[in-house]
Amino acid sequence: MKDKIELLRRALTFFAERPMTFMEVCGTHTVAIYRSGIRSLLPPDISLVSGPGCPVCVTDQGEIDVAIKLAGKGDLIFATYGDMLRVPGTKGSLQSLRAHGADVRVVRSADEALSLALKNPVKEVVFLGVGFETTAPSTAAMVIEAMDRGVQNFSVLSFHKLVPPALRLLAESEELQVDGFLLPGHVSVVLGAEPYQFLPRDFDIACAIVGFEPLDIMEGLVELARQVSESDFKVSLLYSRAVRPQGNAKAKGLIEEVFDKCDSKWRGLGPIERSGLKLKGDFARFDALLKFDLKIEDVPLPQGCKCGEVLMGKITPKECPLFSKLCRPDTPVGPCMVSSEGSCAACYKYDYRV
Ligand code: SF4
Repeated sequence: MKDKIELLRRALTFFAERPMTFMEVCGTHTVAIYRSGIRSLLPPDISLVSGPGCPVCVTDQGEIDVAIKLAGKGDLIFATYGDMLRVPGTKGSLQSLRAHGADVRVVRSADEALSLALKNPVKEVVFLGVGFETTAPSTAAMVIEAMDRGVQNFSVLSFHKLVPPALRLLAESEELQVDGFLLPGHVSVVLGAEPYQFLPRDFDIACAIVGFEPLDIMEGLVELARQVSESDFKVSLLYSRAVRPQGNAKAKGLIEEVFDKCDSKWRGLGPIERSGLKLKGDFARFDALLKFDLKIEDVPLPQGCKCGEVLMGKITPKECPLFSKLCRPDTPVGPCMVSSEGSCAACYKYDYRV
């Protein structure tokens, strides 16, 4: 593998004839890049910045606060993926609520949340639905099942987000000049290549859908540099062992059946039109925001936290003044230090020496 990486490094140097900035969009890529030390192999003209691809990290502070408020009601079971437990809200976290007696349960899948509702028919079970196009289909499938079975004690706090609208926002940003995107592998399994075509077509941005091995990532970077160098902008699918050009029709169908697109606020990126998913039609009776008459407030980020800039690729984690001082994995200030896919957590784990 070393020989192949070296060949790819030389190819990258060949195409990097001017400064180029590429962004890896997916949190799993961010972790893989830190873990493999790929940045140290890049020629000086190639900058690699991290983007908003960690679903926990982009969940807005107001959404976190609503989740904590609801979980603290005391007469319900609140089901969440484990990564959300330690994300700090304005007042505490789901984990601190649990320590004070709230019934907060960690589930590994949406199915487990519905099972909790079926096993506890006299208790309301709320599922915290976060994540991109990867997790939204399983939330949708679970809501359909709840409808089919006539389940009454179950609802979803849907904070799912859609990747292409965020990429459009980044492409339109005047502050951030990105020459190319390493597109997310898992999201692309669902979406395929078509939803990204506006990036090369309208913005002359190079794109490559890549896998998660160091070789995959290096191949993707070479392809991005080649596209830029030759002005041959396109969406190159380099992860064909998992991604089909047309994506997964069944998963996309589940999302369309259950959800409408809605405006959604992203941490760091702000409100983005039609970038969220809310339950539609008859499925809206499983909408926890409606069921409990909750509103998402505008809540500022914790003082000093630069998660917004980190998620936009404007600064690296080490450039946040709180990094490794007030904000560490055992005392996280922002979600980027909590999530296993967060840039700050990955940087601290793989690229920081105390
Ligand atoms: Fe936010 Fe902590 Fe990262 Fe700073 S180091 S951006 S406070 S998560």
